[in-house]
Amino acid sequence: MRRMAGVFLAGALLALGSTSAALAVAPDPAQVAQVFARQTQAITARAHLIYKPAVTDPPFEGNVTVFEQRMGLVVVDAGGSPPSGEAIVAEIRKISPKPVRYLIYTHYHGDHNLGAGALRRAWPDLVIISTLKTRENMTGEPMAFVKTYAQSYSDMADAGARAAANPKLPDAVRAGWGRIAKAGPGLVAGYTGMQVYPADLTFTDRLWIPDDEAPLEVMFLGRGNTDGDAVVWAPKQRLLAAGDLVVSPIPYAAQTYPGEWIATLKKLEAFDFAYLVPGHGALQTDRAYIDKLITALQTVRDQVGPLARANVPLDEVRKRVDLKAMKSGFTGDDPWLAFLMDAVFTNDLISNAYKEARGEAVIQGAG
Ligand SMILES: [Zn+2]
Repeated sequence: MRRMAGVFLAGALLALGSTSAALAVAPDPAQVAQVFARQTQAITARAHLIYKPAVTDPPFEGNVTVFEQRMGLVVVDAGGSPPSGEAIVAEIRKISPKPVRYLIYTHYHGDHNLGAGALRRAWPDLVIISTLKTRENMTGEPMAFVKTYAQSYSDMADAGARAAANPKLPDAVRAGWGRIAKAGPGLVAGYTGMQVYPADLTFTDRLWIPDDEAPLEVMFLGRGNTDGDAVVWAPKQRLLAAGDLVVSPIPYAAQTYPGEWIATLKKLEAFDFAYLVPGHGALQTDRAYIDKLITALQTVRDQVGPLARANVPLDEVRKRVDLKAMKSGFTGDDPWLAFLMDAVFTNDLISNAYKEARGEAVIQGAG
């Protein structure tokens, strides 16, 4: 077992795969179009959401928001693979014939930006924007996972095929692994030839993209999901694109800063939004999910903090905490969602809350 350095949503799942020299799962290009397909939802005037259906099945890739300004389009995030980028370009062309002028990355995780090449080819003049931190992460070690992406998905699909045949696992968990195994050849084919497109233009606090009908404010509100999350506020649409500060139906906690994350989420709640586009998952129209997420973060901090400060070892802390109620608030009684919840949220959040309580650093891109 190895801990995957990548910090996209699949990261913790990939840790379950075995490392082998050759691809255990052969790529199947014929599956790619279906596996990476996108759909579009009109949100309100001049704003659309492009999303990946079946959000809790792979590929675990982020939402894309498209704003229509007078002179062109502004796109938030770009999908997580070359074929996702192609699918997103096709969806954008259905929304408007205007060119994409700006592409904003919410953060550096590959599931939000590795489709950018297709947008750049379609609109060569587009300017890519991110926080300075996100650019640093995309040009540094945190992005190194791109080199082993196809291998990692091959490992995951291979592990999935074995788990799907394991009679000791609950039916819903076997079925979930079965969906990963089935998509495996398409995933391996899609996650090849990856190229990183770091931002052309960076900011540290705030950047305006003016327009009469859809002005946009791009902001860094504090650390949370990463050390450089950007959120995009459209005051006329009352729409907030939150990136992976908000991921649903299962939140994501890889290299997060629990205490600062809570403070940043409270800043999001202070916006007078009518629509919130999470990094993954369905469009939100109220604060209920953010409230639930804040409560979950606080619950983990409250339980882990005193134990961490008393020098209880991390493995022992994991045994002593009682997070059943918190977890079932997200997963209901679905065993597959419960598995995902531990894999991409609870386990990492405990580690990060432990480090936070002991004054240790959370390192972006660390396994
Ligand atoms: Zn993501």
